[in-house]
Amino acid sequence: QAKAQGRNTLCFFDPAMQAAASARSALEGDIRQGIARNEFLLHYQPVVDATGHPLGAEALVRWQHPQRGMVSPADFIPLAEQTGLILSLGRQVLALACRQLARWATAPATAAWTLAVNVSAQEFRQSDFVEQVLAALRDSAANPRLLKLELTESLLLHDVEDSILKMQALRTLGVGFSLDDFGTGYSSLSYLKRLPLDQLKIDQSFVRDVLTDPNDAAIACTIITLAHSLGLDVVAEGVETEGQRAFLLSNGCRQFQGYLFGRPGPAELL
Ligand code: C2E
Ligand code: MG
Ligand code: MG
Ligand code: MG
Repeated sequence: QAKAQGRNTLCFFDPAMQAAASARSALEGDIRQGIARNEFLLHYQPVVDATGHPLGAEALVRWQHPQRGMVSPADFIPLAEQTGLILSLGRQVLALACRQLARWATAPATAAWTLAVNVSAQEFRQSDFVEQVLAALRDSAANPRLLKLELTESLLLHDVEDSILKMQALRTLGVGFSLDDFGTGYSSLSYLKRLPLDQLKIDQSFVRDVLTDPNDAAIACTIITLAHSLGLDVVAEGVETEGQRAFLLSNGCRQFQGYLFGRPGPAELL
């Protein structure tokens, strides 16, 4: 028994685990403080049409950390989601995005630009999510028709009926919905048909090797055909080369996003 307890104790006090746990709680405190100090900002990546003309952008959150510099979402979104901090961060993101939309509306060259905002599952599941989006739109006087919310398959399928109700409520005001990273989740085609979506985004993992991997090419083409059959727009993500663009274009894709057209950056540089 002492041996068994010893093993448990050893496991509990594993120094590597302890170090990881304290690093996580330090980062959690840091994120909390960063939110309070408005250290989070948005970068914007253009979404372009078949001729390379910008149709709008996707907002991608960045953390301007006082010591660590610009931190990318992969380094803080997962912990923000686990700790619930994503809820206040998400509200800041929505407010910043709607203010940017309102700013674009004041200049003729950018007045028709749409802005896509990523939404985490926890944010979407809040009972007052619809009201939060409406409040951000109202406070900024942004045009709801130019706002797109990017959701994922697993988020939507968690509670399909609730998802549909929330989407319908926002759609009556003109807010659009895009299914992000399409093809990487548990695609259920019967649900896809029922969800009031506007757009599918082909995940960049299928775009990367679209010219060399016949399976990726087949998947990308199938997603384009599926989107069109369902009356949805389709956007290819992660387009880095002219060859990828040409292949996707010749297979019916009409909207593109990726380093070939522009990296995410401050709104002034778009
Ligand atoms: P995502 O929504 O799928 O965004 C696309 C990611 O691909 C972005 O990474 C973007 O910088 C990157 N990307 C764009 N073009 C290319 C390309 O040509 N090649 C390659 N290799 N990558 C490209 P980023 O900005 O690091 O964001 C990562 C993920 O973090 C996003 O994936 C999204 O899931 C999440 N995220 C970003 N901003 C927010 C936010 O405001 N709220 C929430 N909840 N999640 C966010
Ligand atoms: Mg996205
Ligand atoms: Mg994506
Ligand atoms: Mg992603």
